[in-house]
Amino acid sequence: MSEVRQDPISGHRVILAPDRHNRPAAYDGQEPLSENKTCPFCAGHEELTSNPICWYPPGTQEAYLRNWRVRVIANKFPALSTATTSLNSQTATTGDHEGIHEVFVESRRHIDSFGELSSDEAAWTWLAYRERLLAIRQQKQWAYAQIFKNSRRGSGASVEHSHSQLLASRFVPSALSTELRSAAEHHHRNKTCLYCSMIESEIAGNQRVVMKDKDLVAFCPAASRFPYEVWLFPITHLPRFEASTTSLLERASRILQRLIRSFDRELRCPPYNYFLHTAPFDSPQQAYFHWHLEIFPRLVTTGGYEWATNSFVNTVPPETAARHLRQRWQQVDAHQ
Ligand SMILES: [Zn+2]
Ligand SMILES: [Zn+2]
Ligand SMILES: [Zn+2]
Repeated sequence: MSEVRQDPISGHRVILAPDRHNRPAAYDGQEPLSENKTCPFCAGHEELTSNPICWYPPGTQEAYLRNWRVRVIANKFPALSTATTSLNSQTATTGDHEGIHEVFVESRRHIDSFGELSSDEAAWTWLAYRERLLAIRQQKQWAYAQIFKNSRRGSGASVEHSHSQLLASRFVPSALSTELRSAAEHHHRNKTCLYCSMIESEIAGNQRVVMKDKDLVAFCPAASRFPYEVWLFPITHLPRFEASTTSLLERASRILQRLIRSFDRELRCPPYNYFLHTAPFDSPQQAYFHWHLEIFPRLVTTGGYEWATNSFVNTVPPETAARHLRQRWQQVDAHQ
């Protein structure tokens, strides 16, 4: 029997249809990595990309080539940039075509998943997210910076080498403004943060929680759009990602690695995407927004019904996904 659920944050509906025959086929497993001879992100090939905007561990320019473990560079093929064409400048009046597009190269080594980074590389990547959000916010001309990751073939990644991206724009993307609207309405009615309420009830219900420690919780949302979708939250109310402490980000990055290793065990190294949602730069929603990370393995292709309706058919109930992931979480090494 199918069941329909609605997500209180984005408003999308999900049809949970566990009896449908087209369950996500077990992913075929990881394809062998290609040669890294021409990979622009590998150590030794730095001349193929622009000068780094920042790198970790921090150090002198002279030590950069030898020492970098994580580096941030400008995207060579930006979706948005400040270099406008004359055509654009004639037609655009709002500056919406302007933006910043950066790439976080997460390792010197040619690996293709966040789960395979060393724990230092994972933590530095997250500290680099914070550093860039703080710097871009400081420029005071951008409304929002979206951080996201495509990993492995089938995720939208065009380069195999593990990396994530930031796209800053003058507008707040609609998925985020929808969340903000729901959060504002909830706050107006109940004087509480919608996300804090959801976290509290997920922890109390304990049906969909994958992991929880004193600072962070990960659960499969009740209206999961995709099989094995997971959301990761700081438990304490925190609107802006860039206001997070170093220790919180280090912990969160390691939890994310362990989650991805749990996917790898359960689903044979699937492609996946993750993205951050954090309060827009210039906004008063301190009281009602709450940063979080959304992650989902790419096991199914979004079809016509989903595009037509923004409703999703999910054949793996989140309660089932969470149960499996909890088992895997115990099996994978936390300190790989
Ligand atoms: Zn590489
Ligand atoms: Zn909150
Ligand atoms: Zn969100």
